[in-house]
Amino acid sequence: MSDENQLATGEKSIIPMAADVPVSYDADVVVVGAGPSGFAAALKSARMGASVIVVEKLDAPGGVHTSGLQGHASEGIGGIHTELMERFDAHGYIYRADNTSHADWAGNPLSHYERKKSPGDDFIRLSFNPEGSGSVMSQMLDEAGVFALYDTRFVDCIVDPGNGDGHIRAIVVENNSGRFAITGRIFIEGSGTGQLAASAGVPYISGGGGQPDTAQWDGVHRPVPGGLLWTMHGVDLPSLVRHQQQADDPLLQKVIAEARAAGDIPEGLYRPTMQGAHIYASMYIGHPTLDMSPMSADGSYCLWQNVPYELNLHMDESGEDNSTATRLLRSYVDAEARFLRKYVPGFDNARIGSIGRYVGVRDGRHPIGEHVFTIDDARNGHRFRDAVTHPMKKLFFWDTYTPYEFEVPYRCFLPKKIDNLLLAGASLSFSYETIFMVMRNFPWTTLTGEIAGYAAGRCIEKKIGPKELEWTSPYGPGG
Ligand SMILES: Cc1cc2nc3c(=O)[nH]c(=O)nc-3n(C[C@H](O)[C@H](O)[C@H](O)COP(=O)(O)OP(=O)(O)OC[C@H]3O[C@@H](n4cnc5c(N)ncnc54)[C@H](O)[C@@H]3O)c2cc1C
Repeated sequence: MSDENQLATGEKSIIPMAADVPVSYDADVVVVGAGPSGFAAALKSARMGASVIVVEKLDAPGGVHTSGLQGHASEGIGGIHTELMERFDAHGYIYRADNTSHADWAGNPLSHYERKKSPGDDFIRLSFNPEGSGSVMSQMLDEAGVFALYDTRFVDCIVDPGNGDGHIRAIVVENNSGRFAITGRIFIEGSGTGQLAASAGVPYISGGGGQPDTAQWDGVHRPVPGGLLWTMHGVDLPSLVRHQQQADDPLLQKVIAEARAAGDIPEGLYRPTMQGAHIYASMYIGHPTLDMSPMSADGSYCLWQNVPYELNLHMDESGEDNSTATRLLRSYVDAEARFLRKYVPGFDNARIGSIGRYVGVRDGRHPIGEHVFTIDDARNGHRFRDAVTHPMKKLFFWDTYTPYEFEVPYRCFLPKKIDNLLLAGASLSFSYETIFMVMRNFPWTTLTGEIAGYAAGRCIEKKIGPKELEWTSPYGPGG
């Protein structure tokens, strides 16, 4: 915070408070966060017969993919992920865009996903309606008997010292009932940012740690920036495409220049480069221009706003950084919407649909587990005796989209220093580039949540801790 904005007195002081909190609930499995990973973990362990409580600070499960408006759908990779796609479809929430509904969209440089295709290429883009799908996920938790507490924020945890590792006795949460504790046998990290693990004393690497790409200007390791997604309804795609072609303005650079000259584009919106450097090649993180993808209905599009790299904001670890990102990105959304309506044909009658409920973190804390999966594990095709997955082939864009085939070991779910916590989703014990490249997306975070839920369910059945569970064969879809 700059000096002129300083609201508090300079010196930090401490106000002692009564530490006692009532224990309001107890469960076999306690999950923090109901994003894809926490959701799948809660669902799986409840289906295996465990009593399960999940605490979610927002009003629905799904995390980035519902509350954050990232409704990217697919055929499904099996297990709970496929079940989700089928349920969303059965509720009429899957929207399909293709050449018929979106002529001239393949190869359009404004397309977030189809820009690399050649004009006229076939494409199918599936998306789910984030709002409706969040309600479906909530119903699925109810059906499985999961006790979900929404608008409930995890704030702390109580750890008993053990002989070696510590043992989480309870988490402390806050909601309309006040501050209270939830005790449990096994806890699952589903916050997407390693918040529970960090609070329990698990060592971690902060977002940005070790990233050479972002340190090239001044040695500062900046996290891969988070982003705010939003939707616009009422876009007339044929008019937009006509403008791009007739004005020879495929990237809208002409209208952007016009608007910028008129003072209608704030600094930072449509930044072409950052401090003269292209980061992650031409990746969308740099957000050089308008960036959109068809979603939910004809004429509706999802748009991306990303945190400027330069600001080096750690939204997961600093409430002030989070507020800065939220204020800034909402102002960009407002400016972008006004620019589009005023200057870009096809947007004349468009309007903002929704804005994500929070700025999503792409590169939060990376908890350290009994194994940290690194890029060399992928490059060397490392095989693990405790593999939880069958070998998966994925493109690693850090290595110029080289396909590597790799397995994930169970030890990536087991954090150091705590004996009754399982990691999942974006908080798995992976190095920043491997989690970002391959394991952090919706299908895989759902899968790793399901695996964590399966492990928790087995441990409850066997009355053992996660580190005592022998993992001998890969987990197939559906367990
Ligand atoms: C901007 C952005 C764009 C992305 N784009 C794509 C994409 O195009 N395709 C794709 O597949 N993936 C995409 N991802 C990645 C993917 O969405 C996430 O990595 C994935 O959602 C991680 O799942 P998760 O369950 O670990 O965490 P999250 O989805 O982050 O869910 C965490 C949940 O925990 C809750 N929570 C957090 N803290 C607390 C607390 N203290 N108390 C209670 N609840 C808490 C949150 O509200 C949230 O519901 C994107 C991510 C971001 C940030």
